[in-house]
Order: sequence, then structure tokens, then C-alpha cells
Amino acid sequence: LAEKLQKSLNKLKGKGKLSEKDVKQVMREVKLALLEADVNFKVVKKFVNSVKERAVGHEVMESLTPGQQVIKIVNDELTKLMGEEQKKIEFAPQPPTIIMMCGLQGAGKTTTSGKLGILLKKKGKSPLLVACDIYRPAAIKQLEVVGEKADIPVFSMGDKQNPVNIAKASIEHAKKNGYDVVILDTAGRLHIDEELMDELENIKSEVNPKEILLVVDAMTGQDAVTVAESFNDKLGIDGVVLTKLDGDARGGAALSIRAVTDKPIKFVGMGEKLDQLEPFYPDRMASRILGMGDVLTLIEKAQANIDAKKAMEFEKKLKTQQFTFDDFLEQLQQMKNMGPLDQILEMIPGIGSKQLKKLKVDEKELVKIEAIIQSMTKEERQNPSIINGSRRKRIARGSGTNIQDVNRLLKQFKETKKMMKKMTNMEKAMKKGKFKF
Ligand code: GDP
Ligand code: MG
Repeated sequence: LAEKLQKSLNKLKGKGKLSEKDVKQVMREVKLALLEADVNFKVVKKFVNSVKERAVGHEVMESLTPGQQVIKIVNDELTKLMGEEQKKIEFAPQPPTIIMMCGLQGAGKTTTSGKLGILLKKKGKSPLLVACDIYRPAAIKQLEVVGEKADIPVFSMGDKQNPVNIAKASIEHAKKNGYDVVILDTAGRLHIDEELMDELENIKSEVNPKEILLVVDAMTGQDAVTVAESFNDKLGIDGVVLTKLDGDARGGAALSIRAVTDKPIKFVGMGEKLDQLEPFYPDRMASRILGMGDVLTLIEKAQANIDAKKAMEFEKKLKTQQFTFDDFLEQLQQMKNMGPLDQILEMIPGIGSKQLKKLKVDEKELVKIEAIIQSMTKEERQNPSIINGSRRKRIARGSGTNIQDVNRLLKQFKETKKMMKKMTNMEKAMKKGKFKF
């Protein structure tokens, strides 16, 4: 999906002023890409319309970089589609918090129960796993294995008791033994049937769970969405865990579930291992779907102002981190033509405003910085770690600044490099196929 979207959006990049026709043409392609990725038809239609509406308006036509603006709108709307903010687990005011995991067979309930237990333990909670699947052979054993690996106790009563009684007994057990979260691993079926829903409803009405989490398999695409819709209609759910996202190349389920059910995706499963469960962040997912997200914008912006070859060299250096004060100086000079530095840095993912403050450089500062770098020897520029106390003094004298200015710059340079490392790592993770959109 990422590739397809980028390809169509790329067509807008080089353009100066956009016509309504340009936008319509590209949105047709975006629509096809989404449909091909198995995004729900109604969702696609609504999505495309809202992007078009915004894109054809003033917001884009009047801007200097209309192509970028459309990409930004697509990014915004993707985020909106998935619910904007990260939704957390809610805890009951009176422990234990009861979390009921439900879903079809093989969706990942048992695995996710263990994964969730681990995340909660990291938050200082003391979870208890409960074996409510009495039908599938070896289901109880499976949960016990998971519990052992996760180092979380498992409550089970064998397969002779009914799940409602097991659930009730487990809560008593939790209260007595100080467990503050009870995770019910319920049984699934191959398909939704009345019997399954009745059983889940019975558990629900008897134990009144704080969270009913539906576990669905991302690889099943639209089926996952349909399952979510019927569980939500029949049982009522509080959130969704989307598993096997590591194997989902299309992203259709991730994009449709919220829009169709109005229930948030709270977690995503990124692998079979028990530490591979992550909170779901709609904005980050949108950026992943659009490829490198804002980094693309950043590079684009750079390319518009720096000549293309230099931009590529810069990018390569960023990635390999053979980045020296000479490059830094050159960048600063280029950046003067690019607009406020803060804005540019803000586009690099993973940089919070806290880090930005550390990096704050105003335009007057730039003149100073230039002078300082120009007072460095060639060797110092290539290898700043050799700049010791006496060198710092010499540089300060040579540039008409003081030693604090020099120290500050050296620190900024270090921070910049650190951030680049972050960027590079992120990109590596994406290349490894951790997020395969
Ligand atoms: P249940 O029937 O709903 O309890 O599903 P299970 O927890 O038994 O999981 C079914 C299969 O899916 C197992 O082989 C799990 O290892 C696998 N699985 C679960 N979550 C993920 C995930 O996020 N990624 C991958 N790759 N596999 C997963
Ligand atoms: Mg199971």
C-alpha cells in the first residue's frame, strides 16, 4: 500500500500550481490503491471525498507547495480514519480490572493474553491469566505454557467446569491473592455462531469486564473488519487488538476497523514472540503507510532548495553518519534559504519538542555558528572529538565569540548526530520489514 500511495502522490510533487483535475486524477489512484489493499469500500469512499474536499480548497491551491500539502492532507485523514490518538486500557477503580479477550479461533487470543500480561506487568500491575477455553484440546496447556514463559500465573479449573464459573472463581482467586488485573482467555470458534456469542454474553453479564478486547487477525483483511462489526453489534467491545500485523502487507484491516466499528484499535501484534505487542498509534501508522512520513517531506523540502545532487549526498551522510562540521556548515547555509530551522527539525520523526528546545537555533545564532566553524581547522571539522580546552579557546578567539558559544555548538552538533542515529535506526527497522505496509 505504501508503495502505491507514494507513487500516485509523487506525481503531485514536482508540480507548481495544482488544478482540480490534477487532484481528482491522483485521488482516483489513491482510491484504487486503498481498495486493492482491501480497505472497506465505504471507508475508501468517505476518505477520498474528505481528502478531495480539503485538497481542492484554498488550503492547497494557495500554498507554495501544493503537492506537499496534499500529502499532508492524506496523512491527516489517514490518522483521523484510525482514530487520531492512542487509546489505552482502562483500569477499574476497584481492582481487579477484568479484561475479557474474545475472537475467532486462531486470531491470537491466547498469545495476546500473555503479551498483554507482560505489558501490564511492566506497568507495575500484577496480572492473572485465566483459562476459559475448555473446548479446544490442549488450550489450557497452551495458556499454561504462555504463562510460564511470561512468568505470569495461570488460573484454570480443567475442562469440566463451564467458562462462566471459571471466570467467577478466578476473580475471587484474584481478590484473595492480590492480583489486580484478570485476563480471561476465552474460547473461539471457526466462525461466529450463536453458541459462542451466548457464552461470551453470559461471561460478560456475570463478571462485568472493564475491557472487552476483540482479537482479530490482520492478515484476514476485510474478514477481520466483518468479524469486528458483528462482535461489536452482538457483544459490544471496547477495543480491538490487531494481531499478525507483521505478516500483513496491505493494511486494509488497520485502516477500516475504526471507521466501521467506531471502536479503537488499542494494540497491534507484531510477531509470535511474547514481547511483540505494541500500543497502536494512529499517527505513526499513517506515517508508516505513507512510507517514511514526514521525512519524505523534509527531504523534499531540502531538494527544492538545495540542488538535487547535494541533497542526495547529504541524505547519504545522514544515514551513514559520516557527518562533519563541514557538512553542518553547508547545511546551515542552505537552511537559511529553507525557512525556520525549528519547522524543519520538527518534521523528523522521533524528535519531541523537548529535544527541539535543546537544538533551538535562531537566525542570528547562525552567523555566530558560521564564524565558529570557519575558525576550526580542517581536522577539527572532520573529527570534532579532538577539540579540547585549548582548541576551544583558540576557536572562540578566532571567531570573535566566547568559549560558551563554542561549547554550545559542539553540544548541538552532538545532539544532531544523535538524532540522525535515531532516524537511521527507524529506517532500518522499516527496511527490515517490521512494518510492511
Ligand atoms: P487463539 O486461538 O485466538 O487463542 O490464537 P493463538 O494465541 O493460539 O494464536 C494462533 C497463532 O497465531 C499462533 O501460532 C500464534 O503464535 C500466532 N500469532 C499470534 N499473534 C501473532 C502476531 O502478532 N504475529 C504473528 N506472526 N503470529 C501471531
Ligand atoms: Mg486460544
